[in-house]
Amino acid sequence: MLRCKICGFPRRYSSVFEWQGDGTILASQRLRMPLMFLEVNEWDFIFNELTSKVGSPVEHILIEAQKNVGKTIYEIARGLYMNIDVKRIPSFLKLQFLAKLLIWSVRNYVAAMGAGSIGLVSYKAGESATLSFINPCLIPMVVGNCLGIYECVEEMPGSSAEYKVEGGTLYVRMSHAEESRVSAERLYLEEPSSGEGKLTFEKCRCGVPERISQSFIWNLEAGEIRNKKTGMREGMVAVQSMNAILRELAHELGEEVLDMLYDSQKQYSRQKLESKKAETANHHSFWNEYLSEMGARGFGYPVSFQTTESSVSVEIKSAYNQILYAAKIAGAVEALTDRNSNITWGENEPSYGKYTISAE
Ligand SMILES: [Zn+2]
Repeated sequence: MLRCKICGFPRRYSSVFEWQGDGTILASQRLRMPLMFLEVNEWDFIFNELTSKVGSPVEHILIEAQKNVGKTIYEIARGLYMNIDVKRIPSFLKLQFLAKLLIWSVRNYVAAMGAGSIGLVSYKAGESATLSFINPCLIPMVVGNCLGIYECVEEMPGSSAEYKVEGGTLYVRMSHAEESRVSAERLYLEEPSSGEGKLTFEKCRCGVPERISQSFIWNLEAGEIRNKKTGMREGMVAVQSMNAILRELAHELGEEVLDMLYDSQKQYSRQKLESKKAETANHHSFWNEYLSEMGARGFGYPVSFQTTESSVSVEIKSAYNQILYAAKIAGAVEALTDRNSNITWGENEPSYGKYTISAE
């Protein structure tokens, strides 16, 4: 794997990722897909909290929602590595070929995601396939991706999965199913944002913002991204995953799920900042840094941001998800003021959010 000689960022990714002025990261391949860097711990916290508030597992909903992202990844991988039509392969070659295609399709993506190192345990064409992931994380997303790709490779309407973690390795056994349990209409993926905005970065010659290339260490063998500054594990995730997941959760469990997610995200962001009092002492430079960091991670960047002593007003078109972005802002307001906060929404559309968050 070639890496940038200056910053060490994997060249395969720096050549296709574009950090845009509206705080989004676009992977421009045959299909354009917005991506983001998410702390694994943050994801785990938010969804573990949700599971305990809902009182039953939500993983199966996450997996279903992630399937379409898997299908998009498959399309990208197929375009990159083998621009061929599977249907035209002679049937005596097809079995072996499909198994390899399945792995090739996901291997690089999984390593780039930082979601572990993938292997094929067994494959029976038309019946089942079992994959292993050493050093796994973001498990529902990984399982959902696998199922989406599996359905594409085997050209079938539905699939089901059993999965377990044993000795630090995730095993995913996928098999044919009649049809998808979820309406495909709810699982659409949105168009990427315009990319225009005021955010700028100090960038390495390879095009990667220095704040990313200097803090993220990529261990592609182990499928792991580590943040040097925080010591935490990071994952690279499709922005559309998050929206598909939230949409599906709200449909299955009711709109109040979105309030639960908002509260969990706010709590996580607040607690994280409360341990860093020095960084939050100067409010003006804190907000600059906080918003730029979120933009570099692909979470979006506001078109307008105004602060007073105890409130902030935000207008944003490019948020990875309006509710979770707002919750991150609210967590910071609470950490800065040492008070709880309330949010008043003016607009809450997928591509336009306008709200004020005030300390109580
Ligand atoms: Zn570089």
